[in-house]
Amino acid sequence: MTAATQPSIEDVVLGGIPWIPKVNFHNPFLATEVGDDFLRRFHLAAEGKLEPFILVIEGSIPNEKNKPEGYWASLGTDATTGQPITTCEWIDRLAPHAWAVIAVGTCATYGGIHAMAGNPTGCMGLPDYLGWQWKSKAAVPIVCVPGCPVQPDNFMETLLYLLYMATGHAPIIPLDEQLRPTWLFGNTVHEGCDRGGYYEQAQFAEQYGSPLCIVKLGCWGPVVQCNVGKRGWMSGIGGCPNVGGICIGCTMPGFPDKFMPFMDQPPGSLLSSAAVQTYGRAIHALRKFTQASLNKVPSWRQQGTSPGQH
Ligand code: SF4
Ligand code: SF4
Repeated sequence: MTAATQPSIEDVVLGGIPWIPKVNFHNPFLATEVGDDFLRRFHLAAEGKLEPFILVIEGSIPNEKNKPEGYWASLGTDATTGQPITTCEWIDRLAPHAWAVIAVGTCATYGGIHAMAGNPTGCMGLPDYLGWQWKSKAAVPIVCVPGCPVQPDNFMETLLYLLYMATGHAPIIPLDEQLRPTWLFGNTVHEGCDRGGYYEQAQFAEQYGSPLCIVKLGCWGPVVQCNVGKRGWMSGIGGCPNVGGICIGCTMPGFPDKFMPFMDQPPGSLLSSAAVQTYGRAIHALRKFTQASLNKVPSWRQQGTSPGQH
């Protein structure tokens, strides 16, 4: 979030954007208060005394019912019992009062790495915890902004959209079936990748360090919905395949299990890259001829000639 620029946290908190309400941030990593002073706002919110607020959940949600003793995750302690307040208890207390709830990052949205097969925590994403049909008191569905980690501007832009909604300046947020904002996750990485031209010409890298398409090294970009190829990571810089990193599908609900082993060529791409190979190389060769011609100035521009003399 601190890396976001469209908008930045400062833009939102300092009132630099018109038509949004006054925003106060209560975040454990950015707060100046500590301990009970910091948690006071959370308790007030749980008692319904801090409305309206948007609840932002980060991190996967463990199953606290899958063991006879102990707990997996908590924040603060209960004043009356002195016992830790689990993450799940906080969600149970806060979600009913929230104007909207945003799950940020693939852990909070779909479980992520902690929810891999065989994990002992029973971790899950927020829609699996609250229910995919859950709606806030303002009738807003859970909003999921996946990514491992989340692309900073994707989150802040979504938050800004909800703030516009809250003041009646935007219609209900458009979400796909996986509860992702459609304008952010409607396209594949491949459709916005800098290496797309190489793919189309069947120019595939055999090892890292090459500018060519890295599908044979394990890139899942053709089927993964993510805008990082176009948007970059911070201030437009980076973006996994653009800078040589295979897309491992971190924004997808099936991540990570369905994308492993990461370094192998995706099974589906064997067929598609073979199909591209049949015309891609021929097209590339023909383009070389055209390119050679286009790289010469027209003959009438040469000294002593004109179009009429040809
Ligand atoms: Fe598509 Fe990946 Fe190749 Fe980019 S590097 S063109 S996303 S397969
Ligand atoms: Fe994740 Fe792939 Fe997007 Fe990179 S390009 S952020 S690996 S989904």
